[in-house]
Amino acid sequence: MSVHLDNAAGCFPRPNAVREAVAEMLAKGASPGRGFSEAARHATDSVEQARGALAELIGAAPDRVCFLANATDALNAAIHGILDGGRVLTTALEHNSVLRPLRAAATSVDFVPLDARFRVTPDALEAALQDDVRLVVVHHVSNLLGCEQDVRALGRLCRARGVPFLVDAAQSVGILDVDVSDIDMLAFSGHKGLCGPPGVGVLYVAPGIKLRAWRQGGTGGHRSQLPEQPAELPYLLEAGTLNAAGIAGVHAGISHLRGVGMARIRQHHFNLSRRLLAGLVVHPNVTVFNPDPTVGIVAFNIDGWNPLEVARVLDETYGIGVGAGLVCAPEAHRLLGTFPEGAVRVSVSITTTERDVDAFCNAIEQLATPVIYTPD
Ligand code: PMP
Repeated sequence: MSVHLDNAAGCFPRPNAVREAVAEMLAKGASPGRGFSEAARHATDSVEQARGALAELIGAAPDRVCFLANATDALNAAIHGILDGGRVLTTALEHNSVLRPLRAAATSVDFVPLDARFRVTPDALEAALQDDVRLVVVHHVSNLLGCEQDVRALGRLCRARGVPFLVDAAQSVGILDVDVSDIDMLAFSGHKGLCGPPGVGVLYVAPGIKLRAWRQGGTGGHRSQLPEQPAELPYLLEAGTLNAAGIAGVHAGISHLRGVGMARIRQHHFNLSRRLLAGLVVHPNVTVFNPDPTVGIVAFNIDGWNPLEVARVLDETYGIGVGAGLVCAPEAHRLLGTFPEGAVRVSVSITTTERDVDAFCNAIEQLATPVIYTPD
C-alpha cells in the first residue's frame, strides 16, 4: 500500500469522477472555441460551464474568470499585466511563482513583517503601504506552513488606499471559503484543492482592474479581425486553445467537493492537521515549524536528519510520499533558519484518511526514536 501525503503539490489519488470527466472530454470534445462541429461545441460548452462553476465558487462574475495553464501562469499574467517597474509589497512566505515574476517586473520587492504566527496584520501592512507601492501580493495559505492570511481584511485596506491587491490562492481554493469581494486579483490552479488534473490555472480579475496581455495569440471565433489582443476578459488573457479535458476534470472536482460539502472538507483538513501535529510533537527531537495550521500542511525536521533523506526513507521503506527541501519557498526557509536544506512537508487532501496519517505517524515514530548504542 502506498500513501500520498504530498497533496500541497497536487491532489492524489483523484476522485473517480475527475478521471471520468477527463476521459469523456477526450472522447467527445474537440477544440473549445474553434470550428463548427458538434465535438467543438461540446468542448466549448463544457469550458463555459466550468467557468460558471468556478465563478460561483469564488463569488465572481463568469467573464472575470480566465483560464490559464497553472497558478504560475495566472500569477505571471497578473504581475506582468499590471506592473511596469515600481515598488511592490509581499511576504517572505511566498512561493517562487510569486517572488520570481515580482523580481522580474518590479523595481523593488519588500517583505511586510509577519507576526509570531506568520500572519500579515492589517497594522503591519498599513505601516508599509507608502504612496509609491504599485501592488501588494499575499498568499491565502502558505504552501510550507499551512497558515492562513486574512486576505479580506488586507484587501479592504489596499482598496481603501487604491493599491491593487493580488492573492495567491493556490493552497486554499477547494479547501477554505474564498470570496473575491475585497480582492482585485486571485490566482490558483486546478490540481490541488480542486482535485483536477495538472495543466489548468485560473486568474480572477475584478472589474476596474486594467491589465496588459502578457501573451498574445488566437482567440478562436472571437474578434479574430483585430490586429491586437481583444481588450475584454477573458479573451485578453486566453490566447491559444484551452485545456478542455483538464478544465472538465476541474469542473468534476468542484462538483465532487460540493457533494461532500465545503464545511465538511474544511473540518476534515483541520482534523487531519491536528492528528499529524499530535503524532509529531511527542518527539523531543522533532521540530514542527507551524504549530497552528488550519489546512492540512505541516512542516517539520528531525534532529540529525537531512529532510531529503527523511523523504527518501519514508518513500522507499514505508511507501509514504511527502514533499521535502525548499518546496519553492526559499525566503520562508531563510526566515525559519532552515535554508538551504529546507524541511519535510506533509500535506493531506480530501481523499486522505486517518489511517494514512497514522501510517505516517508510526513511521516518524521509528525514525525519530534515537537508537542508543550499547557495546556487546
Ligand atoms: N503558489 C503556491 C502557494 C503554491 O503552492 C504553488 C504550487 N506548489 C504555486 C503557487 C504554483 O502553482 P502551479 O504549480 O500550479 O503553477
